[in-house]
Amino acid sequence: MPEVHFSITWPDGTVQRAGSPSTAIERFLAPGATYPVAELRRRVRDGLTAASERVRMRFGMACTAAAAELDALEAGAAPFRDDAPATVGPLRRGVSSLASTAPVPRLSGHRSVVVIGGGQAGLAVSWHLTQRGIDHVVLERHRVAHSWREERWDRFCLVTPNWQCQLPGHPYAGDDPDGFMVRDQLVDYVATYAAYRQPKSHR
Ligand SMILES: Cc1cc2nc3c(=O)[nH]c(=O)nc-3n(C[C@H](O)[C@H](O)[C@H](O)COP(=O)(O)OP(=O)(O)OC[C@H]3O[C@@H](n4cnc5c(N)ncnc54)[C@H](O)[C@@H]3O)c2cc1C
Repeated sequence: MPEVHFSITWPDGTVQRAGSPSTAIERFLAPGATYPVAELRRRVRDGLTAASERVRMRFGMACTAAAAELDALEAGAAPFRDDAPATVGPLRRGVSSLASTAPVPRLSGHRSVVVIGGGQAGLAVSWHLTQRGIDHVVLERHRVAHSWREERWDRFCLVTPNWQCQLPGHPYAGDDPDGFMVRDQLVDYVATYAAYRQPKSHR
């Protein structure tokens, strides 16, 4: 499921970057179009809701990253009058990376367990620790699902069927259990797991 990156130029000239977890947003925003702020807010809200719904249909859960993007855009729009003009920049498709736009929090205090690596093994361990109430943190030096994002070829496809994707607490919930996820779908599967089922990871 490719992600879509775009920007909004607000009436005072400030540029805000944003992303959508699916291409559903493309039905609501035309690249280069100028809308009154009120209309743009509605389009962004409808587009990100549709994108999140597409994630839910495929993975069985809504996309928390889309909700965070919507909150950020609402905050960006808040200072401006409803009829002031705002312009949409180019819409660019890419591999899912919404998690990378989040600020990196600083670590402080004591943790009982430190898990090194935000791949599927680290995230699964984190899920089990959470189930047992054991405080912990996952440290990822790049981004969640880094090896799936960066160490596979563009047309990579799993050789194990989708029904075998059984991350603890996050079994494959799409409509193609006998299919084989391609790279971007797998990145979304793991990244959604990290965003929705896990405590915050740190990179
Ligand atoms: C070409 C290829 C095809 C494959 N096809 C399939 C398949 O079809 N089906 C299947 O089930 N499996 C497949 N696999 C296997 C699957 O990719 C691995 O089993 C799985 O990724 C292992 O998960 P992991 O979490 O242990 O490691 P990884 O997914 O590699 O995650 C490790 C994470 O730790 C991070 N990290 C490493 N060192 C540090 C550090 N010092 N500090 C912080 N972070 C760190 C990395 O950045 C990375 O994000 C395939 C593997 C390859 C290479």
